[in-house]
Amino acid sequence: KIVLGIESSCDETAVALVTSDRTIIAEKIASQIEEHAPYGGVVPEIAARAHAEKLAPMLKAVMDEAGLSLADCDAIAATAGPGLIGGVMVGLVTAKALAMASDTPLLAINHLEGHALSPRLANPDLEFPYLLLLVSGGHCQILLVEGVGEYRRLATTIDDALGEAFDKSAKVLGLGYPGGPALEKLAMQGDPQAVPLPRPLKGSKEPHFSFAGLKSAVLRAKDSGEHTDADIAASFQQAAVDCLIDRLEYALERIETPGNLVVAGGVAANQTIRTALEKLAQRHGMRFTAPPMALCTDNAAMIAWAGCERLPLGVFDPLDVAARPRWPLDPQAEPVRGAGV
Ligand code: ATP
Ligand code: MG
Ligand code: FE
Repeated sequence: KIVLGIESSCDETAVALVTSDRTIIAEKIASQIEEHAPYGGVVPEIAARAHAEKLAPMLKAVMDEAGLSLADCDAIAATAGPGLIGGVMVGLVTAKALAMASDTPLLAINHLEGHALSPRLANPDLEFPYLLLLVSGGHCQILLVEGVGEYRRLATTIDDALGEAFDKSAKVLGLGYPGGPALEKLAMQGDPQAVPLPRPLKGSKEPHFSFAGLKSAVLRAKDSGEHTDADIAASFQQAAVDCLIDRLEYALERIETPGNLVVAGGVAANQTIRTALEKLAQRHGMRFTAPPMALCTDNAAMIAWAGCERLPLGVFDPLDVAARPRWPLDPQAEPVRGAGV
């Protein structure tokens, strides 16, 4: 089976053709970093316009490169949320038009499900259930993934996402946008114990993360003028890692230990975090899996793959399916005040 995937929920326009036997036949990603960099963050209106300009030519390029037509596709999968509504609508409406014109089934994919299932695209051996740390620009969650469409949320952030904390801290250190990768690089030259930073909610009995206080502490450390930027970066990263490990231990106390620990989302590209997770998995006798870097940050292969995973369920979406700026993966989960989804 072949699925065409479209991603446009944030600042990456992406198209990919993926098969059920895990081959990425062709893919294109256009980042909008240049468009947004002058503003220090993603500007929704600019993002939507950029998606509208780039998407159709990229679709044509991917189909041409693969030498396939829409009639060869078993489904067209597009991100339908959560994300910036303008961008999501550009991708979803494009997918609807293609689906209608070619009489191909439509799949409205939850972007978080794309991240959550992405490790299985690269790792055929990764079976359900797995404990998933989903860390991205807009989310920080621990989920028990029991199957396709079966997600139990065990923890989420009450304020900032971890990627957001990386980006804001990077901004304080003058590292530009997006700051996560730059902060990681700078941290390599610093001492992770040099700056005393808080570990918000460490040891808490509530199923929550919090990163707003950590980000503010980074600002105070910078303003004090007592520390090098590298030490602040390294100490920030260490504090973040400590929070992640503490909350994963919290989650593991409350469930039967699954065989696999998995990380996904843009922040999963961070090597210090990967190493800490690998050690945690070892301590608990779990196998650790992380997707390759290119599958961590936003891409369309993960959306097409989520479509491949959904095909056997035989449930498609109607042409009037709505775009959803907010769309929790686990509808049973308690809503958290102040958090995105
Ligand atoms: P969401 O998936 O929650 O809707 P998003 O799609 O914007 O948000 P992703 O593309 O999955 O997020 O991830 C982007 C985030 O990952 C950014 O905050 C970025 O700084 C962060 N990031 C990318 N690489 C690294 C890294 N090496 N270390 C830390 N953070 C990183
Ligand atoms: Mg992005
Ligand atoms: Fe994402």
